[in-house]
Amino acid sequence: MVEKQHKVWFSKALKNWHLIENNRKMPWKGIKDPYKIWLSEIILQQTRVEQGLAYYNRFVESYPDVHALANAPDNQVFKLWEGLGYYSRCRNLLKTARTISIEHAGLFPASKEGLLALSGVGHYTAAAIGSFAFGLPLAVVDGNVLRVLSRVFGISAPIDLPAGRKALEQLADQLLDTNNPALYNQAIMDLGATVCKPRQPICIACPFQQKCLAFALGTTEQIPVKSKKIKQRERFFYYLILESKGKQLVRQRKGKDIWQDLFEFVLKETDEPAEEKELKSWLFWNLGTPKDKTALVSISDEMVHQLTHQKIRCRMVHLRSSALVNVEGYQWMDLSAIKQLAFPRLITRYQTSIR
Ligand code: SF4
Repeated sequence: MVEKQHKVWFSKALKNWHLIENNRKMPWKGIKDPYKIWLSEIILQQTRVEQGLAYYNRFVESYPDVHALANAPDNQVFKLWEGLGYYSRCRNLLKTARTISIEHAGLFPASKEGLLALSGVGHYTAAAIGSFAFGLPLAVVDGNVLRVLSRVFGISAPIDLPAGRKALEQLADQLLDTNNPALYNQAIMDLGATVCKPRQPICIACPFQQKCLAFALGTTEQIPVKSKKIKQRERFFYYLILESKGKQLVRQRKGKDIWQDLFEFVLKETDEPAEEKELKSWLFWNLGTPKDKTALVSISDEMVHQLTHQKIRCRMVHLRSSALVNVEGYQWMDLSAIKQLAFPRLITRYQTSIR
């Protein structure tokens, strides 16, 4: 339990820093509109602010309110999301927009339980919307907050294990300034992002320097502690971009795998790197692409696409054919229609590189 005097000191130091020193600017800061706060929080999950900013502006411009987003066709929203990754966020975005628009008459719930009931809204997002839009006394606990608290209070329990995480969440709840949770939450997140950074924190500019245990003990680079490294799965993707008569073969990804609902070209996945001759035999024998009517345009160098738990190693095989062969599960589409579809970032990166 944090003593009252520590809580007062913590809150006061943070507030002063925020009002005098904090000059971090973001378009959603200080606003009370729950729609825009929610939108920014969903976009920023697992995304850097610099990258998310342009997406936030495009979404607000295209869909100024929750009804506009709820009424938008899925493909259009996915196209706007293209490049952000983690497409389950986009599916949840649409689901929640429709829930709010249809079942809640466009109004976001002003309670923790109501917010947590929305798809894609966990404790962090509920605390952000609840405190910023409605002034609810909910402490946000993101990576920035975990880092600041574990360093100031010298907590060395791993933050990725339930016990360490729980201890820090309880501490965050106790320290929250319930008179102004919005200001407090914004201030501590900004401090973590700009001063108490993961590497080389700028302790000289920090309002907590005099009492920070990690600073005093010289352990800022060791705290927060993490228990394990994320296990990586390596996958090998070979995309056949088969072009014929102004069309290409594509399909929409289904199932529980990555990139659900996004489009892709004909895919061959292997557990090990495939040789060029192996790819050619797959094209001409397994898919039945007629050899005499097909020209191999190019095979790209290997592209590496890093996801949180997976590393995708990929090559693009580009072919032109005068025959429209049928490949089960794929359909021929005009190039102009394909431009409107949302593809995984790996594919759009390749498309941009050959333009
Ligand atoms: Fe972080 Fe340094 Fe401030 Fe401690 S003194 S909270 S390590 S920036």
